[in-house]
Amino acid sequence: MGANQEPRLLVDGTAGRLARWLRILGIDAEGVATGDVAALVRHARQSARRMVTRNRNLAERLGPGAIYLTSQCLEEQLRQVVRAVGRERCSVFSRCSICNERLAEIPKEQVAGRVPAYVYANHERFACCPVCGRYYWQGTHWQHMLEEIQAVLEGKRDG
Ligand SMILES: [Zn+2]
Repeated sequence: MGANQEPRLLVDGTAGRLARWLRILGIDAEGVATGDVAALVRHARQSARRMVTRNRNLAERLGPGAIYLTSQCLEEQLRQVVRAVGRERCSVFSRCSICNERLAEIPKEQVAGRVPAYVYANHERFACCPVCGRYYWQGTHWQHMLEEIQAVLEGKRDG
């Protein structure tokens, strides 16, 4: 795996909501249901993704490339994965939190009538998911979330 390559993760069901939070950070995190270890090992290898799991057996089968989550706490898991892939790989607002697709920035005039009027009036930057068609904008909600994430990654907040 080259140093400049974007991290590609495969997050299984043992990690719960972690995949969604990684996507919010802009990290490519495909979600997969918990299941047969052999099948998950195959899936990880075929898709060339690093497995992120709480399942020690699965992580051991995949070797050092896998990320075995040592904590049950979401914040601690987020910190562990970000440490593993590198903080500089994070790019918030760049990925759909639902389908893991890269967001495309779109000019403001294109979202007229497609987002609530007060959102349109109060924001300048919009993005759209090419797969599910959801619109994203950087609003107060995002700002609040960013501050939360920042605090989590800096270890200022626990649990
Ligand atoms: Zn989407």
